[in-house]
Amino acid sequence: MSSSGTRTDLGRALCIITGASRGFGRVMARRLSELLKPGSALVLAARSGDELRAAAAEVTGAAAGGGGLLVHCVPVDLSLGDGLKELLETVRTSFTEDMDHVLLVNNAGSIGDISRYMRSFTNMAEVDSYLSFNVSSSLCLTAGVLEACPRRPGLRRTVVNITSLCALKPYVSWVLYCTGKAARDMMFRVLAEEEPDVRVLSYSPGPLDTDMFTVARSRTADPELRKSLSDMFAQGGVFTCDESCTKMMKLLLEDQYVSGSHVDIYDV
Ligand code: NDP
Repeated sequence: MSSSGTRTDLGRALCIITGASRGFGRVMARRLSELLKPGSALVLAARSGDELRAAAAEVTGAAAGGGGLLVHCVPVDLSLGDGLKELLETVRTSFTEDMDHVLLVNNAGSIGDISRYMRSFTNMAEVDSYLSFNVSSSLCLTAGVLEACPRRPGLRRTVVNITSLCALKPYVSWVLYCTGKAARDMMFRVLAEEEPDVRVLSYSPGPLDTDMFTVARSRTADPELRKSLSDMFAQGGVFTCDESCTKMMKLLLEDQYVSGSHVDIYDV
């Protein structure tokens, strides 16, 4: 802890990051690993095993001298119950008595089909499939992690929800994404009310230069929104994942946010 009361590390932690194979999650894996004390474990989940292993190699390089950090890659599809089960099994076996912090980052997500307007979403199976991955899996993963790592003296528990301005503001032709992000924000607000010992943060990372943003600026059905995203990108208005991650780490280390609140990168 520094003289200002800000922590300088995340402790001897079990840190779980979903969507760690690319984009924001992959950068986060590398950056958060630098804040983990020896004896920590990092669990990385996404579908692509090859990309996860590449992410793990970057982490091992980043954690000073290897740092006694165990990295587990879990290649799973989180839209499926079996994928979630497998991830939770790794969480259970990676959690040890001497750990003093559990940090779960619900980062994995998809933008859904943004090439159509809401009036065309008549297929319930399509909507269910989107919500199953983007909403249900993060609810059940969070519940499973809290169950696997129960409250005990000396154990900090932190849950991060990677959210978006879309949780608060409607975006034309992004009905699935806005609905999913709004549902997740509320889910984590309920968690914060129910579990006062758990620190819950919904962090909105700002527009990021990732695959998701490429899809957003090229496939959005609404011409006005598509143009504003393309202009934003052309004018350098998007953040690098590293820039956004620095802000998120500041929030986690200072630990001053109101549990359950939605904090935007522009407010940090
Ligand atoms: P990307 O599309 O670049 O990466 C998404 C990640 O999720 C990948 O690691 C992908 O890995 C994983 N993923 C996708 N589907 C599944 C699945 N079914 N099961 C398991 N993992 C899956 O997205 P970003 O990095 O841009 O976004 C990260 C988070 O930030 C998301 O929650 C997003 O909504 C949010 N966000 C992004 C913004 C942006 O401008 N990019 C703005 C605001 C919020 P794989 O394909 O290997 O499974």
